[in-house]
Amino acid sequence: MSFALLGLAPALLRAVDERGYQEPTPIQAAAIPAILGGRDMLGRARTGSGKTAAFALPLLQQQASAHPVARPTTERRGTARRLHTLVLVPTRELALQVGESFRLLARHLAPPLKVVTAFGGVSINPQMMGLRGGADIVVATPGRLLDLIEHNALRLDGVAALVLDEADRLLDLGFADELQRLLALLPARRQSLFFSASFPPAVKALAEAMLNDPVQLDA
Ligand code: AMP
Repeated sequence: MSFALLGLAPALLRAVDERGYQEPTPIQAAAIPAILGGRDMLGRARTGSGKTAAFALPLLQQQASAHPVARPTTERRGTARRLHTLVLVPTRELALQVGESFRLLARHLAPPLKVVTAFGGVSINPQMMGLRGGADIVVATPGRLLDLIEHNALRLDGVAALVLDEADRLLDLGFADELQRLLALLPARRQSLFFSASFPPAVKALAEAMLNDPVQLDA
């Protein structure tokens, strides 16, 4: 199996190659075609399985194919970007790590995609500045994301794809109420990807409420 057989754009294959990934991990081989096909996903996956690229690559591919012909960057200047992908994560560390994965994998796409990372415990102002003019991809912890929405720094009504990463830790850290408030702000018609290492009842209930006929993966 090679990445080239998964239907990814040359710019993404180049980034994959530069990261030194020679072939897809099992979760990548299964997830990438399913996500490109528009399916929701329920993944039991630990850190180390390659799950970040498993969702980042097809979501980047969707955005790259929405603009098949590279438009001059000037055309986008001044026009707000529509937030396509929202990734919710439990911690600052994971936000930084997932944001960096998206940036590295997106680096050869034209026009360039803008990735913004947001988390609590630091001043909100630089994150508000970062969201000026919009973003294509936001990776955030739930509490700070709600703060940013309350400051009118972004809106979720155009989101096409939602990823919950480490959903069990999101609930363990007490983000259930924030998640419910965020879900209410998202369009009902969207693609949802749900990853968790464990599935206690509260995690299962959240997955059932969020997902529509998901592909199920174990990695
Ligand atoms: P993750 O499970 O997403 O945290 O990824 C775990 C580690 O595996 C990260 O350092 C990734 O950069 C790396 N990785 C992801 N996909 C591949 C791949 N196909 N081949 C080799 N390494 C990979």
